[in-house]
Amino acid sequence: MHPIAPLTRREALVSWRAFLPLVPSYTSARNRVLAGHGNVSLLGASIRFRTLLEDEVIAETLVHHSFQVAEKWLQEVCWRRYWKGWLEMHPQVWIQWRQRVRSLPQRLPAETLTRVEAVMAGESGVACMDMIARELIETGYLHNHARMWWASFWIHVEKLPWELGADFFFRHLLDADPASNTLSWRWVAGLQTRGKSYVVRLSNIEKYAPDYLSNYAAGSERLTDGAVVASVVEDLGDVGKRLLPQYPTALGRTCNRTGLWLHPDDLLPEIGPLAALAPNSIAACLSDHVYSEIYKLSSQRKASLHAVLGDGLARAMAHYACPSVALAADDPVVGLCSWVREYELDEVVAFAPMVGPIHDMLPRLRASLESMGIRLTLIRRASDATAFSFATAGFFPFWEKMSRHLKQLSLS
Ligand SMILES: Cc1cc2nc3c(=O)[nH]c(=O)nc-3n(C[C@H](O)[C@H](O)[C@H](O)COP(=O)(O)OP(=O)(O)OC[C@H]3O[C@@H](n4cnc5c(N)ncnc54)[C@H](O)[C@@H]3O)c2cc1C
Repeated sequence: MHPIAPLTRREALVSWRAFLPLVPSYTSARNRVLAGHGNVSLLGASIRFRTLLEDEVIAETLVHHSFQVAEKWLQEVCWRRYWKGWLEMHPQVWIQWRQRVRSLPQRLPAETLTRVEAVMAGESGVACMDMIARELIETGYLHNHARMWWASFWIHVEKLPWELGADFFFRHLLDADPASNTLSWRWVAGLQTRGKSYVVRLSNIEKYAPDYLSNYAAGSERLTDGAVVASVVEDLGDVGKRLLPQYPTALGRTCNRTGLWLHPDDLLPEIGPLAALAPNSIAACLSDHVYSEIYKLSSQRKASLHAVLGDGLARAMAHYACPSVALAADDPVVGLCSWVREYELDEVVAFAPMVGPIHDMLPRLRASLESMGIRLTLIRRASDATAFSFATAGFFPFWEKMSRHLKQLSLS
């Protein structure tokens, strides 16, 4: 009931190596929701914050299993990159979602807000859904099927705004990901694939979670097949589309005094294009103000962010043999600028943030650094650039290109 999501790289590697032999059975086992969740990897937070790389997982999978045997597993591991690539080209979706999370509580009737609070607290009266809400709050983890059922229950049974349900997940899930979360909720709502919503069905819950939910039948008549009808969800219209932003995938000549900025979109600088950097200092922002006041994260989620960032800083310090700093300023941009001044840096180097909270602060950071005459160099992993370039339409065209690419890599 209390899965332990690995947060440090050491724990992530141990969990991953323990899961590797189970890859062949993943196809048939993954959809079942079991107490303890031993049939899935629990690697979401490790992969999302990159204490473990998709590239490592894919490469090791293909050393031990054939592509055919591992295809379903590889496909799931690549879903995150699909969502991330898609969001890179549609940043407006993230921006609109954050705006609605802020504005909806001011506009909704008091009784709707009361219901929102009750359903999130696990007091809807539908016992199996309430158990899922409580599991999320207690553990910071939900199985994929439970995420789908609960999101559908929220949208199509309770008829509550998807944006607030997605925010509940974002505040509690230890693997909360701006792309996977926002776009999965849009998919359940019927906004991501036009005309296709995900409708929760009691028969599906009974099939995939008979033991897990066996004592939670009260109120389940509200989920009876046929009783749940997909809601018409307010569509804010055109989500815009931009070209995939291009970043260098290798480090060029750096300035005399360079700082490495570590952030939660990629915490493995010692592997890949930044490995050869020779920074004078390393910094990561751990702003409690941002976590608590802006995103209102659960205390468990804040603790997990501290853990992954602390682990990233410690590894980076050991790899680059230079000082590292955890910046606690309320405003991360102010914190980073003070760090630049203190270490007399000429250049800040980082992985290019992906659409989400870190990306949102880039324009201000760029302007502040520019006004100080400091260069900001953002690097993207080549494997991300390639995968993102495939995410121009639906998942299956993406997978066609991605699987061909992976097969070529495994042969070379
Ligand atoms: C409404 C909803 C919200 C979601 N929110 C998030 C989120 O905030 N963060 C997040 O990482 N995933 C999210 N997912 C996707 C998926 O549920 C989780 O990635 C997965 O359940 C994580 O558990 P696991 O590591 O044990 O999965 P496993 O089944 O072991 O999968 C292995 C890895 O593959 C990737 N993966 C698997 N399924 C998906 C998927 N459908 N979409 C994207 N990546 C996938 C993840 O990196 C995962 O760690 C959401 C799904 C839904 C339906």
